[in-house]
Amino acid sequence: MKYIFTPWRWEYIKRAMKGEEGCVFCLAQKKSDEEAFILYRGRYNLIIMNIYPYNNGHIMIAPLQHLSSPEQASRELLSEIGVLLQASLRALRRLFSPHGFNVGMNLGRSAGAGVEDHFHLHVVPRWEGDSNYMAVFSDTKVIALDVAQVYRMLRPVLVEEIKNLTNKD
Ligand SMILES: [Zn+2]
Repeated sequence: MKYIFTPWRWEYIKRAMKGEEGCVFCLAQKKSDEEAFILYRGRYNLIIMNIYPYNNGHIMIAPLQHLSSPEQASRELLSEIGVLLQASLRALRRLFSPHGFNVGMNLGRSAGAGVEDHFHLHVVPRWEGDSNYMAVFSDTKVIALDVAQVYRMLRPVLVEEIKNLTNKD
């Protein structure tokens, strides 16, 4: 009997079992930045536009690895999220002058996660009178700028803010 070792096949099965095949954050990484609206690829995380935004400038920070909760994340990964969050807030504030932000995670289906097995941090700019807090995480609404427009504006500013933060260390 002959055994044929096909590691690529095993990788495929493992991925399918873990659900990465249908995961938007994993699939996005295989595309070009422009195609997937990836604003930045870090060492452990990426920043990506939400293509179904709750508001203008709605972005998400997600690990490159398919992890369902920060409980599984390394300290390095979590500290990079902190840096990327800070840069994201600064870039969005510079560009769009929001009055506030909603920043948060929905972990698990019962908490309202759209992609429940790949955790991600939502960063949503808010302006006076745009809608109430609950509407941000439960409804989609009409927005003034399209995602591609925001992507082109935000990307260079965000990259600059990340550079500013990481050069200091
Ligand atoms: Zn994933």
